[in-house]
Amino acid sequence: MFPSAFEYYAPKTLDEVYGLLAQYGDEAKILAGGQSLLPMMKLRLAAPSVLIDIGSLGHLSSATETAEGLSMGALMRHKTIETSHWPHYPLLRETAPWIADPLVRNRGTIGGSLAHADPAADWGAALLALGASVQIESRDRIRHMALEEFFVDLYTTALEPQEVLTRIVIPVPATAATFARYLKLERKVGDFAVVGVAITVSLAIDGTVAQAGIGMAAMSGVPFAAHQTESLLVGRQLTPALIKEVSESASQEGDPESDRRGSAEYKRSMARVFVERGLSQILQQWESTQSA
Ligand SMILES: Cc1cc2nc3c(=O)[nH]c(=O)nc-3n(C[C@H](O)[C@H](O)[C@H](O)COP(=O)(O)OP(=O)(O)OC[C@H]3O[C@@H](n4cnc5c(N)ncnc54)[C@H](O)[C@@H]3O)c2cc1C
Repeated sequence: MFPSAFEYYAPKTLDEVYGLLAQYGDEAKILAGGQSLLPMMKLRLAAPSVLIDIGSLGHLSSATETAEGLSMGALMRHKTIETSHWPHYPLLRETAPWIADPLVRNRGTIGGSLAHADPAADWGAALLALGASVQIESRDRIRHMALEEFFVDLYTTALEPQEVLTRIVIPVPATAATFARYLKLERKVGDFAVVGVAITVSLAIDGTVAQAGIGMAAMSGVPFAAHQTESLLVGRQLTPALIKEVSESASQEGDPESDRRGSAEYKRSMARVFVERGLSQILQQWESTQSA
């Protein structure tokens, strides 16, 4: 199916974007990579009469790493993140290759993924595990909020009509010994998650967990972080017994729905398996760095 007719603008500055948003209001939609919006328009699930393509805002396509953390422009493409090297944030590179297929990864952006707020999207889970926050800008103000507050409901965020998501900020991890895994069950390669689990763990020199982040995709109406499970990990030695205990807890967090991808019970069970598998792999990786 073809989308309904629309006007297309490609502003060069954020000020121009704000002007267009003010002029066209609800009729306008921001276009980033187009990998969620355009399919929806083709299916006539969305019919904006104006598209504001923000792809020319070059300053939103790069990242800056400082002592405080990593600040990523909202227009960074999945592919760029997949091929970037940020040793302090291994979860980013773990997650990116799981998103869709190379064609989608070449066009889709991290900001577009968050703004679309699909509960099964991979970045939501990974960035919640990383404790990320977002920067949102409009003509009158810049606001920052925890990603957790940004996700309001199914496909719904805290973005107001005149606002643009501009940056995603990830705080520096607690220790240099930071390990990560992204585990995803999909029906076929490139599909959205039946269940996705993002894990990042920072270990102290004696193997105690200094910081833990566990994000989940498709386990609730919004991507969410399994805080109870995270708090069971912190301050304790990472051992097979602890891993068993917390993976059980993780499967009880969230509120998955039964759908054509699987029953709620199956999804909980897979979440348990993934948390156990991911943490066991991290433990093994840490032990191998100790004996090297
Ligand atoms: C075949 C296929 C398979 C896919 N598989 C996966 C998958 O396995 N995992 C996964 O996570 N994703 C998957 N996706 C989605 C993909 O990751 C999209 O790239 C992403 O969800 C949207 O990013 P985008 O840059 O393309 O945004 P767009 O499609 O351009 O925009 C999406 C929405 O966000 C708004 N928006 C975009 N950027 C901003 C901004 N900076 N500020 C405010 N609003 C903004 C738009 O107005 C629109 O409402 C898949 C997509 C396709 C087509």
